[in-house]
Amino acid sequence: MKPAHYVNGVFTTTGAAFPLISPIDGSRLGVVPEAPRDVVDAAVRAARSAIAGPWGRTSVEERCVFLRRIADGIEARFDAFVDAEVADTGKPRELASTVDIPRAIGNFRAYADLAYGRPERAYPTTVPGWSGSGQALNYTVRRPLGVVAIISPWNLPLLLLTWKVAPALAAGNTIVAKPSEETPSTATLLAGVIDEAGLPAGVFNLVHGHGADAAGEHLTSHPGVDAIAFTGASATGAAIMRHAADHVTPVSFELGGKNPALVFADADLTEAVEGTVRSSFTHSGQICLCTERVYVQRPVFEEFVAALAERTRALTDYGPMISAEHRDKVLSYYRLGVEEGATVVTGGGVPVFGDERDGGFFVEPTILTGLPESARTVREEIFGPVCHVAPFDDEDEAVRLANDSRYGLAATVWTTDLSRAHRVAPRVEAGIVWVNCWNLRDLRTPFGGVKASGIGREGGEYSLDFFSEPVNVCVKI
Ligand code: NAD
Repeated sequence: MKPAHYVNGVFTTTGAAFPLISPIDGSRLGVVPEAPRDVVDAAVRAARSAIAGPWGRTSVEERCVFLRRIADGIEARFDAFVDAEVADTGKPRELASTVDIPRAIGNFRAYADLAYGRPERAYPTTVPGWSGSGQALNYTVRRPLGVVAIISPWNLPLLLLTWKVAPALAAGNTIVAKPSEETPSTATLLAGVIDEAGLPAGVFNLVHGHGADAAGEHLTSHPGVDAIAFTGASATGAAIMRHAADHVTPVSFELGGKNPALVFADADLTEAVEGTVRSSFTHSGQICLCTERVYVQRPVFEEFVAALAERTRALTDYGPMISAEHRDKVLSYYRLGVEEGATVVTGGGVPVFGDERDGGFFVEPTILTGLPESARTVREEIFGPVCHVAPFDDEDEAVRLANDSRYGLAATVWTTDLSRAHRVAPRVEAGIVWVNCWNLRDLRTPFGGVKASGIGREGGEYSLDFFSEPVNVCVKI
């Protein structure tokens, strides 16, 4: 299915076309329509009239049936989804078929379970003298917010889009979604599945295009949007928030990170090395949760760096950066690191494969050491396969280094000392702290970041809370 908008139940390719480029070899995969303002406008209007129609009166049970149908629809076209995700992102097939697409299916099933099983609160009340008399029953119902704008990034295109679409639908909203301009394909396939699942026209709308001064901004500045759920860079979040302020539109933001790993001398070093290879280099470092700062307790520093370098040099099956522009950005940080005084332990350049991948946007997995904490390479999110490894002496210093960042998304602690794990984890300024593991996810848990890494939490009841308003009903008995 070629990238197309899906507005009020109809697929269209209105708007100027821009090329979709394969990050694997630089070839042209096709074209994507850029939604002009009137297409975005039509999508918001369709979503508005859908919320006023029968969808706005559906029960949670009815909506959960749709969610399960959508999950089944993705599953039935599993290979097509994997093919599209691999083509757009260049990520290894193994990753798309074990993480991206199964998790997208899981998102719909999890939110069907969570929304259906969610209790509402009731408060039997004996009214005190100051507030009338008699007894009452207070209970809380949840109402959808209305028209929700969902903006998603390119790194986990379907996974992150459905992570918002599923709870937004479960809570009864209507949606206008805009996926990343770099990865429009699985979103279009999803619109096809939603169409087949029989959702009423206008409940889910999809528009393609760029962000600033384009479809993304048209959508997030639209007065007809009741809430904005965004995943992407912190600077983009700031730009969206400026528009959201005009209409006091609520936002849920999942933003960037510069995630630390703390490796204590008492850690199982083999596990810590394996875990750090995963956390730094999965999807070539293009996951918001990836580790870019590794702090290792001094007695095991040399041993850890040597083992990490050996494992990193052995990596062969890795994907490219999403675009030539992003590759250039990552390489500019490799150069900056050296200018700032880094020792390049391994990597630092562009790999040569001797095949079509040499036309793609690959960079080498890279380990740096020796930088001061003030270096831009240590402070700024690079979003590539690179980590800086630095020593620390004690627990307090480890926590101080981990927290010395404007970001606070995720952190990893490697230790076999149970007490230390419980002492350190709550002191780290991050929304998610993993101990002796990385990216082990339970979809019921709160997911999000502190500081510049986000606003609010998603996951489980947290998403359902964001996508709905509690309304208290007080009935006098
Ligand atoms: P990005 O912010 O450049 O783009 C994300 C989306 O926002 C795209 O769909 C884009 O078109 C749109 N956009 C861009 N400018 C806009 C504007 N002014 N108004 C409205 N929409 C706009 O991010 P990216 O490069 O696609 O993704 C990488 C970033 O996302 C990294 O910073 C990464 O850490 C972050 N990220 C965070 C999480 C998380 O859960 N916290 C998950 C994945 C990625």
